[in-house]
Amino acid sequence: MTFKTLDDISDLHGKTALVRVDFNVPVEDGRITDDTRLKVALPTIEKLQKLGAKVALLAHFDRPKGKVVPEMSLRFVAPALSALLGTTVAFADDCVGADAADVLKLLPAGGVALLENVRFHAGEEKNDPDFAAQLAALGDIYVNDAFSAAHRAHASTEGVAKLLPAYAGESMRRELDALNAALGTPVRPTIGIVGGSKVSTKLDLLKNLVGKLDALAIGGGMANTFLYAQGHEVGGSLCEKDLKDTALEILKEAEVKGCRILLPLDVVVAQEFKAHAPNRIVDLGAELSGDDKIFDAGPKTVAQLKDVIDNSKTLIWNGPLGVFELPPFDTATVEAAKFAAEQTQSGKLIAVAGGGDTVAALNHAGVVQDMTFVSTAGGAFLEWMEGKDLPGVSALG
Ligand code: ADP
Ligand code: MG
Repeated sequence: MTFKTLDDISDLHGKTALVRVDFNVPVEDGRITDDTRLKVALPTIEKLQKLGAKVALLAHFDRPKGKVVPEMSLRFVAPALSALLGTTVAFADDCVGADAADVLKLLPAGGVALLENVRFHAGEEKNDPDFAAQLAALGDIYVNDAFSAAHRAHASTEGVAKLLPAYAGESMRRELDALNAALGTPVRPTIGIVGGSKVSTKLDLLKNLVGKLDALAIGGGMANTFLYAQGHEVGGSLCEKDLKDTALEILKEAEVKGCRILLPLDVVVAQEFKAHAPNRIVDLGAELSGDDKIFDAGPKTVAQLKDVIDNSKTLIWNGPLGVFELPPFDTATVEAAKFAAEQTQSGKLIAVAGGGDTVAALNHAGVVQDMTFVSTAGGAFLEWMEGKDLPGVSALG
């Protein structure tokens, strides 16, 4: 997919850039507990400032559902952003109309203003054309730097993009480049790792990946469903027995498409769901009692996975290989993550990962910085892995 970036702009003096960012930051007792999302927006804001634009930031916060909810105001973000940027950030009490226009009028070239929560208007989530037009009236160009909101066709992510010259911001561009390198036009051979708890939440993802990858390792709780479908014992493990046929269809589809499926060769079982629960390693095919639960992949499985990663040039990963929250059932996930990180650092692998728990697991393994790209976009990342069209991205094309 092709889209314009800020490099396609040479001067914006006297112009206003309407920039969609993701400032839906975690907050406790009125304090921002993690300002990653603010930092992610800085390169785009700074680049637009250098081009001489007035920068008008559009964002949502929480779920006010189309009404003004004072506790969900974005006002508290302005001083935090101001401190990071080293410039004053003005705040407008509304994201459309006279309130917004007046604040923007007073901004100097290179000035920055944050506009109030777009979700205070019902037109935002409905992608109402009139509301999109009111947003568009404030700017000369539109920049989307919120990949994490791109799976939603809302007025500030999709509608407005069609009404103004539209560009991908710096972090949006980085994310799209990484995703394209992982699944769009990857260097082959490619391998995917899909883990996590349930097959049912990742059906579309599995179906899309088997059609695209050279190999796919299935781990975590969802591997149990595949093992069960193949006639193996899973004891009292998490397993979606009703998805047996679906699992077999996916395996069939993989065979037809030439995607090698890697399922566990051995597993770690325990009887209690708690950290350091007594556990043992068993080979596939061994007898399991109803109390035995599979919590992790075993050492043979990890060795095989490392071998395939070693022979691959691109890795895409979503979902931990075991119950990584409870050591030692984090072992397979941590070992695979460390190996992928080493391969990436020595230039042999392009490794892209994403997903809420996956990011937590990679953080736990201490390798987030060593991967090529780790997406914190959550739902948007998963929908992209499912091969779905992301309206906020398509609107930039
Ligand atoms: P993500 O958020 O990265 O998309 P998921 O939400 O699909 O990942 O899966 C993460 C969860 O899967 C974790 O909470 C982990 O404990 C769980 N999980 C992994 N392996 C197993 C297993 N063998 N049995 C039960 N749960 C598992
Ligand atoms: Mg999750």
